[in-house]
Amino acid sequence: MQILVLNAGSSSLKYQLFNMETGEVMAKGTCERIGAGGTITHKRPGAEPFYEEIDLPNHEEALKNVIELLDSEEHGVIKSIDEIDAVGHRVAHGGEMCRQSMKVTEKVIKYLETIVPINPLHGPPAIAGMKAAQDVLPGVPMVAVFDTSFYSEIEDFRYVYPIPYEFYEKDGVRRYGFHGTSHRYVSAKLAEVLGKPIEELKIVTCHLGNGSSITAVDGGKAIDTSMGFTPQEGIEMGTRSGTIDPTIVTYLMKTKGYSAQEMEDILNKKSGLLGVSGLSNDCRNVSAAAANGDKRAELAIKILANGIKKYIGSYVAEMNGLDAVVFTAGIGENQSNIRSRVCANMSYLGIEIDEEKNENFTRGVPFNITKEGAKVQTWVIPTDEEYMIALDTKKLAFN
Ligand code: ADP
Repeated sequence: MQILVLNAGSSSLKYQLFNMETGEVMAKGTCERIGAGGTITHKRPGAEPFYEEIDLPNHEEALKNVIELLDSEEHGVIKSIDEIDAVGHRVAHGGEMCRQSMKVTEKVIKYLETIVPINPLHGPPAIAGMKAAQDVLPGVPMVAVFDTSFYSEIEDFRYVYPIPYEFYEKDGVRRYGFHGTSHRYVSAKLAEVLGKPIEELKIVTCHLGNGSSITAVDGGKAIDTSMGFTPQEGIEMGTRSGTIDPTIVTYLMKTKGYSAQEMEDILNKKSGLLGVSGLSNDCRNVSAAAANGDKRAELAIKILANGIKKYIGSYVAEMNGLDAVVFTAGIGENQSNIRSRVCANMSYLGIEIDEEKNENFTRGVPFNITKEGAKVQTWVIPTDEEYMIALDTKKLAFN
């Protein structure tokens, strides 16, 4: 069985074709600059990447080109498009209705259209991706996998904000949480590598990338998470502020005359590691500058590590215990310096890492960095959202 996983962004379309018998990625790639030119980068194991500049006016045209590449003589991995058994779509936001992965139907698409106001950046491209797939691959079953659905069982006192209740009831202002597919994948993977039933584990999963979130997973269920109504809440990120005193927003708007859009741009695109360091949104660069003695870079890294620490501590309190901490995504998987700072002075909670293992970890596989004798396990686990989407698609597409 072959499953195509699609992840549509506003001007991009990422794809991976999985052989579900072996779990192997047969081909993957990215279409970029959709609607403003167009490029495709297509990769197959054992072959040179193929790159093409080609006019991609919309997601449908992009997908047509992807399919042509997948079954082309020169760069293809399948003989005909009939070999694509199902399509899985990554959808960032499922609102309150799409509480688990589900088959794509007209009803689902219509619902997602109604929640575009609370998901203006990611909603329209996700819908365009689904419609494109319906047109280009008619009759092929499709499944939508939502980043928010891992949080569908969070209790109301953790998702309702303490503002007038009508904003929740009438406007859908609540914590939704994001990166759920990644947190779900790494928590399940941890249980697998520990050889323990997930129902018996209390885990804090730290997805640290350009966007970052931290989730408390108790017995396999997410009980709380750092991102909220939007992916803006939580810890300091590449260019996002994370949680700040909300009055800073109105104060700056009043005193500087910023519009709502300008303020949103400041908090989304000019804050975080970039805003504090003044150097870069890339944690590698900021870490390197901090190591070279740059004070603002050091401050940005301290804010990040301390923010992660605070969430871990609060989730231990919420779960009344902790068996494991997992680090994943670009920073979590690669930056031992951040892991080391986060885990320093956490022995009261049972978190102690082996600095040598942390420094000399093996990339690309689940890696145990726990200090011998520590009460809590600490692991680095590479995330694989696409494979998780493929697994859900396999489970649901043919029902
Ligand atoms: P996104 O949220 O865009 O998917 P990623 O998960 O790729 O982001 O994470 C991007 C962050 O991860 C950047 O801050 C970058 O510095 C860091 N990162 C990614 N790869 C590496 C690497 N090989 N070594 C060190 N840091 C890395």
